[in-house]
Amino acid sequence: MALELYNSLSHKKELFEPLDPNQVSLYTCGPTVYNYPHIGNYRAYVFVDTLKRYLKHEKYNVLHVMNITDVDDKIIRDSQIQGKTLHEFTEFYTEAFYKDIEMLNIMKADIYTKATDYIPQMLSMIETLIKKGYAYKAEDNSVYFDIHKDKEYGKLSQINVSELKNNADGRLIKDEYEKENAQDFALWKSWTESDGDIFWETSLGKGRPGWHIECSAMSIDKLGESIDIHTGGVDLIFPHHENEIAQSECSTGKDFVKYWMHNEHLLVDGAKMSKSVGNFYTLRNLIEKDISPLAFRYWLYTGHYRTRVNFTIEAVIGSSKALTRLYDAYKALGDVIGTVNTQYAQQLKDAMDDDLNTSKGIALIWELLKDNNLTPEDKKATLLDFDNVFGFNLSNLKELDIPEDVKQLAENRETARLNKDWNKSDEIRMKIQELGYEVKDTESGPVISKL
Ligand code: AMP
Ligand code: ZN
Repeated sequence: MALELYNSLSHKKELFEPLDPNQVSLYTCGPTVYNYPHIGNYRAYVFVDTLKRYLKHEKYNVLHVMNITDVDDKIIRDSQIQGKTLHEFTEFYTEAFYKDIEMLNIMKADIYTKATDYIPQMLSMIETLIKKGYAYKAEDNSVYFDIHKDKEYGKLSQINVSELKNNADGRLIKDEYEKENAQDFALWKSWTESDGDIFWETSLGKGRPGWHIECSAMSIDKLGESIDIHTGGVDLIFPHHENEIAQSECSTGKDFVKYWMHNEHLLVDGAKMSKSVGNFYTLRNLIEKDISPLAFRYWLYTGHYRTRVNFTIEAVIGSSKALTRLYDAYKALGDVIGTVNTQYAQQLKDAMDDDLNTSKGIALIWELLKDNNLTPEDKKATLLDFDNVFGFNLSNLKELDIPEDVKQLAENRETARLNKDWNKSDEIRMKIQELGYEVKDTESGPVISKL
């Protein structure tokens, strides 16, 4: 079997054939950095990480770009409330995001693009759309995309513009809205008083970009006019991804994305986990309950990325126990690494080739551990191979046993050392010792071990 992925554009599983056999181009809509993301958001990032890990496992070269939305309505509102500059405010949450994804063992994207670094590219795209007659400047000085001019508008979300006559004659300045409100949407938002000192003086006037144009401009700038895969949660299908397609394809005249992939929602008591409803957990909330981020990762794998899953603390505690059993079983296999068992490798491939069937993959791990026909060495090799896809960090188990506060101290000590603050560095080393650990400085950096 060859890799098949579900394409939200065609509504079916399709054989995966990248545009360029030498490199898969992958774009993911990243976080809007105005708060700590919740674990529903992390479902979207674990999903793309699994896809990416599997593509790499299958020897594809992957170039992965993720944006950081660092200007939007919510960011402006909250940075003003906190009396911080846009940069100070967004840097804080961007760093928090990077820290979280590290704890989830999510591989970093090759390139993170911050929206505010790509204003010229957005302007140039908007100007092309105006020239080609797809966009217009309205009385409020904002620039809108005319959805009636784009004959293909609605092809991803399957809305029919002609059936939306009443609404579709209006204009929307808001970035987020429902299908029933499909109207001309803002590409460039003219400055209003509530924006305060957040604006760019440009050929389109004083203002800031709309959310949708950001992703179109950054994806094209970094990956080219046509790419292989674009990912996000299902809530992004409309309006965000529909609008991305409209802007990109009308400006370039080319197909924007070959495979659109969307993860389903993580629910709480049957409702989408979201900030606005208030029914959310952050990764920090889980850690406070002694649930490791990787246990959450394990739990996500027990359901398919395209099914809705209901989050409960009890279920994740169950996964936490399963992951501990896996770690214990792995450690008991000894230190020698044998060879990857081809039958199990083939079974993993069959499962993952079928639109990333992770629950089958997880079941295989337990089958393998129970199989008396395999030597411990070969089990170890096969598990390590599987772990390149699942990311439970088996090859670094020793490090996983180190408590977070010790790791943080070691990081502080490294910073002190880099600043040549030897007194502070020694002081922190003593604190680490008091907690029962020691740090050794090796050629590849500091290594922590139990005393
Ligand atoms: P945002 O920062 O709101 O743009 O969301 C970041 C990513 O998380 C997007 O891909 C969303 O589609 C996704 N997302 C938001 N809420 C959920 C949820 N409850 N379950 C799964 N994915 C979600
Ligand atoms: Zn996006």
